[in-house]
Amino acid sequence: MSYAKVLERACTGERLSSSEIVRLYDAPLNELQSAAHQARLRRADPQAVYYLVGGVIDYTNVCTVACGFCYFYRPKNHPEAKTLSFDEIRQQMEEIRAYGGTYVLIQGGVNPNLPFSWYTDLLRLLKREFPEIHVAMLSPEEIYGLEQLTGRSAEALLAELRNSGLDSLPGASAEILSTRVRKLVSPNRVSVTDWVRIVETSLKLGIPSSWVSMVFGLGETREEKVQHLLILREIQDRALEKGYPAKLSAFKVWPMRLATTRTAPRVATVGGAVYPINLDQAREVAEPVKNALIQPEEVRLHYLREVAIARLALDNIPNHGALWLTMGFETAAKALRGGANDMQETGAINAVNAAVLAAKGELPKVDENLLAQINQCIRNAGFSPVRRDGLYNQRSA
Ligand code: SF4
Repeated sequence: MSYAKVLERACTGERLSSSEIVRLYDAPLNELQSAAHQARLRRADPQAVYYLVGGVIDYTNVCTVACGFCYFYRPKNHPEAKTLSFDEIRQQMEEIRAYGGTYVLIQGGVNPNLPFSWYTDLLRLLKREFPEIHVAMLSPEEIYGLEQLTGRSAEALLAELRNSGLDSLPGASAEILSTRVRKLVSPNRVSVTDWVRIVETSLKLGIPSSWVSMVFGLGETREEKVQHLLILREIQDRALEKGYPAKLSAFKVWPMRLATTRTAPRVATVGGAVYPINLDQAREVAEPVKNALIQPEEVRLHYLREVAIARLALDNIPNHGALWLTMGFETAAKALRGGANDMQETGAINAVNAAVLAAKGELPKVDENLLAQINQCIRNAGFSPVRRDGLYNQRSA
């Protein structure tokens, strides 16, 4: 079938097959974005674009998985290995609270030194002291690591985490859900089967996924990207059909910059963002990553294409992200006219994206000026900004 025919089918709201979605990679970007925009208007509030105010806390850089694209991690006895104390985490939470944040993403490496009780104790502390802040914590990779460490099932672990205060499970560690690609770039990564099992278990237990994602630029084929999208679509289909109490809330896609791997010390990015452990390290690594952070035009166009294709393929995931920080406001505005309805990364102005801002010579600071820029970008794209919480409920700004 020609790409034009596939776009025609997409515009009438029909579900696209795997081979049809692959054909979309041949479509001109403007036609693709126009169809994705129609789909976005049908499947999400046609007037609103969401944004979120929150932060990211990278609690440990100790990790045994050793992904080939990650510079963040350190082996456990490495001199730069670091795990934040509860007091340090509390301090970062106070910073998020001070600028009015209502969401925190807490993620790190797979650290065998931390017992499971460390996570449940932390969650209870956060719920006691910061009840207004939605806690998205751990990833399927970290849950899998805890299964190995404790010998307990994901179901038992997630139920205890939920009862201790876990609000949502970020769908990180997916990259490309293809065994071939995973073996190539991170052979120790959680397998596709286990990633799916853990995400579905969380939905069954009523723990929403704050977002699921795809990372391109790892040597994957078009077919493997489409396979990835269809795995996500099928998870959501099953959640809807079986009436699971939670669903996949949002999707986002970003480019991997493989110029920056652990073989290129001090310059490491995932999706264009450096992964330091704190703001001091963010500033320290800022200079070397400056060039790596400039997204070339072809990457931006590729990004917009992936945003549009994902919107057309994932007909059952309501919210799709536009990355303003790593891709820039101009590209984010284009993404908002080509399938996206959520300004992602607003909730990530801390260690990870702090480094991006530091590299651009802008110190990380969530303030009225930054929020005004985000709001303006949304208006420039023709929508009304709506501040949301971690579960996509509207909040007063
Ligand atoms: S990406 Fe995550 S799992 Fe992989 S090495 Fe880095 S911290 Fe570990």
